[in-house]
Amino acid sequence: MVKTHVDFLIIGQGIAGTHLAAMLMAEGLSILVVDNGNPNAASRVNLGLMNPITGRKLKLAWKVEQVFPFAEQWYHALEQQLQHSVFFPKNLIRFFVDEKQSRLWDEKKDLPEYRRYIAEPQNWHAYQPYINAPFGGVEITGAALVNVNSVLDAVRRRLREAGAFLETNFSPEDITLTHDGVIWKTIFAKAVIFCEGFRGVSNPFFSWIPFSPVKGEAIDVEIPELPAEKILHRGIFIRPLSEQRFRVGSTHLHRDYVEIPTPAGIEQLQTKLRDFIRKPFHLLGTLAGIRPATRDARPVLGRHPEHPQLVIFNGLGSKGVSMSPYCARMLTDHLLRNQPIDPELDVRRFWQK
Ligand SMILES: Cc1cc2nc3c(=O)[nH]c(=O)nc-3n(C[C@H](O)[C@H](O)[C@H](O)COP(=O)(O)OP(=O)(O)OC[C@H]3O[C@@H](n4cnc5c(N)ncnc54)[C@H](O)[C@@H]3O)c2cc1C
Repeated sequence: MVKTHVDFLIIGQGIAGTHLAAMLMAEGLSILVVDNGNPNAASRVNLGLMNPITGRKLKLAWKVEQVFPFAEQWYHALEQQLQHSVFFPKNLIRFFVDEKQSRLWDEKKDLPEYRRYIAEPQNWHAYQPYINAPFGGVEITGAALVNVNSVLDAVRRRLREAGAFLETNFSPEDITLTHDGVIWKTIFAKAVIFCEGFRGVSNPFFSWIPFSPVKGEAIDVEIPELPAEKILHRGIFIRPLSEQRFRVGSTHLHRDYVEIPTPAGIEQLQTKLRDFIRKPFHLLGTLAGIRPATRDARPVLGRHPEHPQLVIFNGLGSKGVSMSPYCARMLTDHLLRNQPIDPELDVRRFWQK
C-alpha cells in the first residue's frame, strides 16, 4: 500500500534521489519516491568512478578531502544495510595525453595537497606492454569504483517493501501547492524534492537554473589480454567490470539530448581505445545517458526561494558518484535541522525574480 501522507515526495531515483531517500528514511522520515524507470538515466549507464584528480588540467576534485572520505564512509554504511559490497577502492593510472600535460604534472606533483593521492610505489610502468604511453603517467591512489546499479536496485527494493516507491511518470502540472505542502494526486507531502537529473531542464518551478546538460556515451568491451586490477585513463577511462570485461568512456556532447548512442560517438571511443591500448578488443555493447550539469559545474541544492515546499537536488554533472552522498547529507541537514547549504551549491545563487 502506497502512503497518502508523507513528509517528503521525492521525484527521481537516480543516485541523487537514492542517497537522499536512504538518509531521510534513516532519520525516521516518511517518504514516497516516484521514478519512471528510465534504463538510460545517467545513474544507470555511468562508469561508477570516483577520481580525486580530474580533467585535462589535473585539478583536485572540489573539496576532495571532505567529499571523498564522506562518500567512502556512506557507501560502506550502505553496504552494511544492503548486505553486499558496492564500494571498491582502486588505483587509477593516469597516462598523460601530451608533453604539456606531463610538464603540468611536474609542477603539481610536489604540492602538499597532491601528495596523498600519489601511489607509493608507482607501478604504472608495468602497464607498458599493454598500452601506448609516450608521455608517461602517474598512479593515483584514493580513487574508487562504485557499483551504482547495485545501490539503486537495493535501495529500490527497500523502498518498495516500505510502500515508499511508485514507478510512474510525474508531471509538475499535477501538483497543487498548499500553505503547508503539496498535493499530488491522492498524496499530501510537506515538501516535494526534485531529483530528476537532466529532465530538470523542463521543471517549470526551477526554470531559472542555468542547466547545461552533457550527453555521454560509453562502450562495453572485452579485452582478453588486459589486466583488470586498475582503472586506466588517457583521454578516456578504461573501467574494469570483471576479468577481461571493461567499460570505456566517455564522450561529451552538448545539444544532443537523446539517450541513444550515436555511430560517431561509438567510433570516437573505439578510435581512442585503439590508440590507447596495444591489445585487440571486442565490442560488447554501447550506452548513452545525459549528465545533469549546470553552467558553473556545481550541484544545485535547496528550497525554492518563494515556495519552500519545493526543493531541488540536481546538477551532479559528471561527478555524481562522489558528490551525491555529500550533497544528500547537506540537504538532509538543511531540511531537518536548518543547517546552511554551502553557498557554492545553494540553489539561491541562480535566483532572479
Ligand atoms: C556515460 C556516462 C558516464 C558517467 N561516468 C561517471 C563516473 O564515472 N563518475 C561519476 O561520478 N559520474 C559519472 N557520470 C555522471 C553521473 O552518472 C551523474 O552525475 C549522475 O548519475 C546524476 O544522477 P541524478 O540522480 O542527478 O540523475 P539521473 O541519473 O538522471 O536520475 C534521475 C532519475 O529521475 C527519473 N525522472 C526524471 N524525471 C522524472 C519524472 N518526471 N517522473 C518520474 N521519474 C523521473 C529518471 O528516470 C531517473 O531515474 C557519467 C554519466 C554518463 C552519461
